[in-house]
Amino acid sequence: MLPRDLKYLVVGAGLWGGVLAERIASALGERVLVIDRRTHIGGNCHSFVDPDTGIECHAYGTHVFHTAIPRVWEYVSRFTRFTPYRHKVLTEHRGRVYPLPVGLAAINMFYGLNLRPYEVSDFIRREAAASAGDPADLEEKAVSLIGRPLYEAFVKGYTQKQWGREPRELPADIISRLPVRADYNTDYFSDPWQGMPKQGYAAMFDRLFRHPLIEVRTGLAYADIAGDVPPACTIFYSAPLDELFGYALGPLEWRGLRFERDILPYRDAQGTAVLNQADAEIPWTRAHEFKHLHPERGPQGTRTVVAREYSHACQGGDDPYYPVNTPQNQSLQSKYRARLAAEMPNIVAGGRLGGYRYLDMDKTVDEALGVFETLRARKTGEDGAWA
Ligand code: UDP
Repeated sequence: MLPRDLKYLVVGAGLWGGVLAERIASALGERVLVIDRRTHIGGNCHSFVDPDTGIECHAYGTHVFHTAIPRVWEYVSRFTRFTPYRHKVLTEHRGRVYPLPVGLAAINMFYGLNLRPYEVSDFIRREAAASAGDPADLEEKAVSLIGRPLYEAFVKGYTQKQWGREPRELPADIISRLPVRADYNTDYFSDPWQGMPKQGYAAMFDRLFRHPLIEVRTGLAYADIAGDVPPACTIFYSAPLDELFGYALGPLEWRGLRFERDILPYRDAQGTAVLNQADAEIPWTRAHEFKHLHPERGPQGTRTVVAREYSHACQGGDDPYYPVNTPQNQSLQSKYRARLAAEMPNIVAGGRLGGYRYLDMDKTVDEALGVFETLRARKTGEDGAWA
């Protein structure tokens, strides 16, 4: 049963929902109910301690917090301290391991050269044999950035596995996430603020949701309570919109992930937190060795936990991870959004699932803070569109 006077409901106890619930409780002093169909809070950032090894594992793949947005860093730092961890990613191609992102180390190793930083852009331009005009898809974009041989080696197979379609059918901006550098810096992210929650993600989310005005109910989907929600309640919804409308306009396409987790009898199995597999013949996209995310915790025993990540097309009942941002799917999402605005004006959809967007954690927090600002402005009579 839901309280008859419930004013705020948050669907989805991930970052977007967590920030909204925390703000509503702390800054507005209002009660808020948070539900999640999973049995834990934290969404895809959820971490747990493996009972056999004591190693903190990320249940849904490695999550490293990184941002260039001052208000986001200030906000998340209220709930955890961060370690100075800088993420490194390696990729294996035809039995050899290269550092990512593509920079001097990867280029020189791949070609057996000793290029200097000032020689890189001319070299890549020649390798790219650049096509005229703006790159229209992921393949054109990647070739323009790193040239065809490096694209074929490091991007093509990985992208086919990750997205289940050809890079030519995917939008260029997916690859813009990865920097291309002309130096030996092998940090995966360029943001000024980076790190891992010192006590882990689970502890960070416990603090985010720990407020006397926040009630969390897990194992509960929106459909289970939809009929019970008082009409005056404002709902912040971070779950797929197609589901909300019973798939009336057709299903939105998502990629799902499956993890095969093993405890291995080595102190160190792969020497780094994330090892990508670039080749199409290897069925997994990458493997996560979680102890490397926390070097400050020491060797953490003589065994290690490694999770291999496999990508697949979501079927009904699978957890959605990545929206497949093709024009068709974007247009379908827009139609669902139009119906939402017309038929359910008390529901604000957002976050990765509700917004159908490929969002990093920091962008998710920023978006939620923006939505909260709109809520606060509306309460004082201003008429703002939801951010
Ligand atoms: N990518 C690639 N090869 C790699 C790593 C990434 O081709 O070794 C491409 C791929 O298309 C992927 C995109 O770059 O979907 C973004 O990668 P990122 O590591 O940012 O993905 P995430 O960690 O968000 O899954």
